[in-house]
Amino acid sequence: MDKPVEQPAPKPEIDIASMPDAREVTAVRHWNPRLFSFRVTRARSFRFRSGEFVMIGLPGDDGRLILRAYSIASPSWDEELEFYSIKVPNGPLTSRLQHIRPGDHVIVRPKPTGTLVLDALKPGRRIFLFATGTGIAPFASLIRDPEIYEKFDQVILTHTTRTVTGLDYGKDVVRRTLEDPLVGEEAREKLLHDTATTREEYPTMGRITDRIRSGAFFAQHGLAPFNAAEDRAMICGSMGLNMDMKAILEEAGLEEGSNSRPGDYVVEKAFVGEGIGA
Ligand SMILES: Cc1cc2nc3c(=O)[nH]c(=O)nc-3n(C[C@H](O)[C@H](O)[C@H](O)COP(=O)(O)OP(=O)(O)OC[C@H]3O[C@@H](n4cnc5c(N)ncnc54)[C@H](O)[C@@H]3O)c2cc1C
Repeated sequence: MDKPVEQPAPKPEIDIASMPDAREVTAVRHWNPRLFSFRVTRARSFRFRSGEFVMIGLPGDDGRLILRAYSIASPSWDEELEFYSIKVPNGPLTSRLQHIRPGDHVIVRPKPTGTLVLDALKPGRRIFLFATGTGIAPFASLIRDPEIYEKFDQVILTHTTRTVTGLDYGKDVVRRTLEDPLVGEEAREKLLHDTATTREEYPTMGRITDRIRSGAFFAQHGLAPFNAAEDRAMICGSMGLNMDMKAILEEAGLEEGSNSRPGDYVVEKAFVGEGIGA
């Protein structure tokens, strides 16, 4: 007698919408083959400080949640939550997340946290926001928050990526900020956006750390060198960038702060591991 052909068990349809903390996707935009951003509805009870991150995720094939840390890229006053994401080839979460569409659901856990918050910094005159790659996400939140313009006379956002299109999301956020009825006027006066690439041809090229050490960064924008008495900073990039930037700021006399002990600068990893370029 023929052996019955074994059929794979049909995959149970996972109804994400009915899971706890499920939020509906309202918009998705792909910036290049490796980067995309998306927006989800915000629970009315969801509170966060601009610059914080949260755990978001999707169920895997076995139904268990795959959760990862994501900076919230929208400001705390926004009705929706925005995220900016890498697509890691075969990445457990992002190989699924990159296929979301409006109407789909994503899990957004309710406990935001993080050190890239204005409360962790002492008062100052200039604030420098140093980002590489997707590390611009927390700053996309902060530059759209009126509080940063209340607290600082000048907001200097630097974004360095490998590719030219890696800069596009940041440029779009800055454009939206300058046009925003809430912060646009102040941002037009106080916000400086520095962009550079490290691999592809672009008007400004080089690692931000090299551009700072050579003085080219300050010269390009007519900025005075660091002054620990009035400069504050936030760093969000790869482990290497974070370590190198910390060393530069410490040499200039700035001291690291935290939520419990505000200081001159704060730092957070944009991801764990070596990183993939974008
Ligand atoms: C505090 C914090 C905030 C984060 N915020 C964001 C965010 O706003 N946007 C975002 O895309 N990711 C962010 N990440 C990274 C994120 O948690 C995941 O690692 C990422 O979404 C990939 O998930 P994955 O399961 O597909 O692959 P994983 O198994 O998580 O990652 C596989 C490898 O891909 C590389 N990688 C992961 N994330 C990145 C990245 N963002 N840029 C370059 N290389 C990366 C690393 O080498 C990592 O070891 C953050 C991480 C931390 C710790």
